[in-house]
Amino acid sequence: MNEREVYACKKYIRKHRAAMKEVGRVLLDLPALLTLFHLDCENCRLVHRETCCEGGQPYAVENRQADLLERESGAIARQLWSERDQRGWAAEGIWDKHYGLGTIRMDHGNCLFYKEIDGRHGCSIHAYAERSGADVVALKPFSCQLYPLEVIDMGEAILLTALTEETAPFSRWGTDYLEHFYCASIQRRMAAAHLDEHFFALTGYKPAYQWNIPLLHALLGSDAGLALDFLGKRSRRETVVT
Ligand code: SF4
Repeated sequence: MNEREVYACKKYIRKHRAAMKEVGRVLLDLPALLTLFHLDCENCRLVHRETCCEGGQPYAVENRQADLLERESGAIARQLWSERDQRGWAAEGIWDKHYGLGTIRMDHGNCLFYKEIDGRHGCSIHAYAERSGADVVALKPFSCQLYPLEVIDMGEAILLTALTEETAPFSRWGTDYLEHFYCASIQRRMAAAHLDEHFFALTGYKPAYQWNIPLLHALLGSDAGLALDFLGKRSRRETVVT
């Protein structure tokens, strides 16, 4: 985060501190974590002009994960890529020539791993993990798995939040998703009467934290059960109240 984002984040925490729950070192931003999302990624390209994997992978891959991804990349390419793409992999590997290890190179303006698989476009790392039984959490770039959540180490505490209009000024996700994607805005989806009801179905929206339970376990360790219990109760209470 740059200085401005750090300032915005601190200001946000001060403003919403009373609505946050402290679990160990982690500050659970309850209102944000209960915001509704529908990550209907399979249908994303059918209803949006561009998906979040187009235009490049959002954040560089950390070194440990980069080594694993490099080791598995040949198997991913052999299993799911066209012959042309496999030749590209053999000749150029997976990293950007300029930035090197950790920055996935682009192919035709998109993340190299974004491929057409069985007639749909999606992440070939994810598809490979599902088909081969590999651990998707270990293999898929962390930032790609994180959305719609956000984890910010503030030194004395770790803020666990999600993308909302108020967190967008300091969140890595910015305002794009709120403005252009149905996954992040049930209001936009409700207004989109022209869409097939099965795409980003209103019944599929659920609280942000529920889209990434493994992350909560990884972040909170033995406190995860407590946090999930609390979030679950709050979520049910707010559903009853609204
Ligand atoms: S690694 Fe996968 S999820 Fe991440 S940008 Fe590339 S295709 Fe998309």
